[in-house]
Order: sequence, then structure tokens, then C-alpha cells
Amino acid sequence: MSLFPIFVKLEGRPVLLVGAGRVAEGKIGGLLAAGAVVTVVAPAATPAIETMAEARTIVWHRRAFDSHDLDGMRLVVAAVPRDVARQIYQEADRRGILVNSVDDPDNCDFYYPAVVTRGDLQIAISTAGHSPALAQRIRIELEQRFGPEYAQWLRQLGDTRRELFATDMDPETRKETLHQLARARSGMVYLVGAGPGDPELLTLKALRIIGQADVVLHDDLLTQEILELIPSTARVECVGKRHNDRQVTQQEINRRLCEYASAGHTVVRLKGGDGAIFGRASEEMDALRAAGLSFTIVPGVTAASGAAAAAGVSLTDRRLGSALVFLTAQRCKGNPPPNWKAVAELGGTTAIYMPGGHENDLARQLLDAGLAGDTPCFVVANASRPNEDVVETTLSGLSALDRLPAPTILLIGTAPGPARRASSVVKNAGKTTENH
Ligand code: SAH
Repeated sequence: MSLFPIFVKLEGRPVLLVGAGRVAEGKIGGLLAAGAVVTVVAPAATPAIETMAEARTIVWHRRAFDSHDLDGMRLVVAAVPRDVARQIYQEADRRGILVNSVDDPDNCDFYYPAVVTRGDLQIAISTAGHSPALAQRIRIELEQRFGPEYAQWLRQLGDTRRELFATDMDPETRKETLHQLARARSGMVYLVGAGPGDPELLTLKALRIIGQADVVLHDDLLTQEILELIPSTARVECVGKRHNDRQVTQQEINRRLCEYASAGHTVVRLKGGDGAIFGRASEEMDALRAAGLSFTIVPGVTAASGAAAAAGVSLTDRRLGSALVFLTAQRCKGNPPPNWKAVAELGGTTAIYMPGGHENDLARQLLDAGLAGDTPCFVVANASRPNEDVVETTLSGLSALDRLPAPTILLIGTAPGPARRASSVVKNAGKTTENH
């Protein structure tokens, strides 16, 4: 016997729930979400059900089931022992009311499916009771495949559809347009920040989206552990500036992003740290916008945060200053150098990305701008990775340091002062100096 799948409107309709234990309690939320008017019949109830009855969210009759309880009901859910369920099922059958008895298929007219809910998008799975475990597995797979963003997207599709129906567009063209819009989703670009290297510093969202990728374009900062999380079915391209013998230009990256997305793929642009910090993200967004492609930004933990954690310091300290400056030692051709004087006057902490061997120059500029020679300074290489290295020095001491392996970041300022530091957190400090 095959089941007939339907989605039922329950808005304002009376539904009877017999039983008020934990299992019954679990059934109320879904009914209320659908707008049903819920009446509970049971001699005793869980505290949560009592509270709902007090708040008049539901009506609770504190007594045993009576066949008159079925009067006027659309649906019945029974969460009671089998003999009572049998009686309810038979009475309801006589009146033509559909019944679900929880975990009791013999006394059921309908089953609860496993459901993926994304706003008004609901994907229901039934195995007709043969394997709830399989239904669960499929639900989890579908949850991965159809993320929460589908809720908003479906709303937009609905709005567009209503708008198109309000015009005098020819029905064939309208149909084609609506189908095209519904396909467009599969071509999606995610600009994802992967954090400083430790896979545990990925956000849950980043992890979920990486799992859905058809194509991943990543930079040099990505660690092997994170790359291993990419599904083996995905096409993976390193487009890092350093990595390739043949450098991939930014224009070429933009072109590939647009090309893969236009072909309907789920494209993940995966970058170290936060993609919107010194990551050329705005150039990629411009290119995607120009191509009419939608994208989602997923922020990540930036290197400065990873480095501060490695050094055991806070990036800010309200007792010492109110500024936190993210600065890069690299400049786009034609741009003026940073206003070092302004940086020095701000106080607080300055995180310098991509110091790239210019530590000496940077220190001199900041000293010239008025920062004290004994201003605390941390050089952090490979923050959050197994080869993490932290060297503590001062602004004057910075130029005398041996160069640490890339990626390295500098934290300079009052807030990361030694007095603020939890010294037990510092790993490998000074290791590089010993090696030389
Ligand atoms: N979008 C990245 C920064 C890209 S610029 C972010 O938000 O972190 C690249 C620079 O980031 C490197 O030169 C280095 O200064 C810094 N960086 C990135 N990951 C790092 C890490 N694990 N440890 C230390 N510095 C890091």
C-alpha cells in the first residue's frame, strides 16, 4: 500500500492531542507553527504543557479521553498507551477523522515524515515506516544540501512570481523566466573566511558551505587540514599569489568565479582569516555584481585575533587606549604610505599584516612618528597552526630580529603589553632566535 503525500493547512483548525507527557509535548510545536487550535486531553501534563495551558496557547482538559473530545476535530494525535490509542483510532475512524498514534503504525491513518524546513520550503521524507533511520539520514543530507539561505531565496522567488503575474507578460515567457530564476540558485558564490589555519576556528557556516562546494578557489593561506574538509567530488584550484609558478592574476580569479557560477556551480572562494580584510574581496564582489551573480559573505576569524590568542594577549585594553588598527605593509601602486603619525597618536594596538621582511622599516617609521622604543611588540608566525611561533620584543628590538617564516603578523602597542599577558599561553617563544 502506498501512502498519499500531502501538506495540510491547519490554520485556525481544531486539532486534538490525547496525552500530555514528554512525547505529546514534542508534537505541540509543529501543530502551533501551522496555526492549529490545539486541545489537549490528559489527566496529568508536563510542566511545559501546564505553562502553555496557563498562557492559553492551548486548551487542556485535565481528565481521561472521552469520545466526545473528537467532536469537530480535523486531526487527532494520540501519545498514549496502545489500548487507549486503539479506542481513539476506532472512534475517530467512525467519524472520518484522521489519526496519528505516535510509534504505533497499526493505529495510524497518517505518519509524521522527517522534515527539512527552510521557511516555507519544506521537504518531507517518508519510508512508510520501513526505516526511520534512512529517513533521518536523508534528512541530514538534504539539510546540508539546502541551507537556511533557501528560506529567504524562496521568499524572493515568491515575490517575483507575484509581481510577474501582476503584469501582462505572455504566459510562456513568464513560465520560462520563473524556471530560469529557480535554476539560478544552484549557481551560487560564497566568499568564505577560513580563519588563521586551525580547522576548529572555521565557523559552522563555513564548514557547512565547504561541504556543499562544487568548486573551491582558495589562496595560499589555507592549511592542509582545512583543505581536507573539501568534498572529494569538488574541483579545487589554488589561485594563491605565491603558490603557482604561473601567477594567477586577480582578473583571472574574478573571471573563473563568474564562469563557474554562471555554469550553475556552487562556488566557494576560500580565504585565510576574514576574506574582507586585506583579501581583495571587494574586487571579486564588483566582478560578481557586474555579472549579475549573487553571493553570500561568510566572515572568518582574522589573523590578528589568531595572533593575539597565540600571544596570550587582548587586542584592546580599555585602560590603555581605545583604538585597534589593522594595517598592511603592502601597498597598491600609487597609494600613499600610511599616516604613521596618526597611527602613533591613536595609541592602542596596531596589527600589521604582510610585514614581509619590512619589519626594520616599519619599526623606524613608527619610532619616527613618535612611538616609544619600548612599546611592546609581538611577532607571530603561523598563528593557530602546529608550527605557531611567538616572539616578544619591543619596537626598538624589532629590527634586530631574525625573520620568521610566513605568514607572520605584528602586534604593536600598549594593549599587548607583557604585563597583560598570560605567559603560560605563549608557545615556542624565542625558538627561531635559538636556531640561529
Ligand atoms: N584575510 C586575512 C589576511 C590576508 S593578508 C586575514 O583576515 O587574516 C595575509 C597576511 O595575513 C599574511 O601576510 C600575514 O600577515 C597574515 N596572516 C594570515 N594568516 C596568518 C597566520 N596564521 N599567522 C600569522 N599571520 C597570518
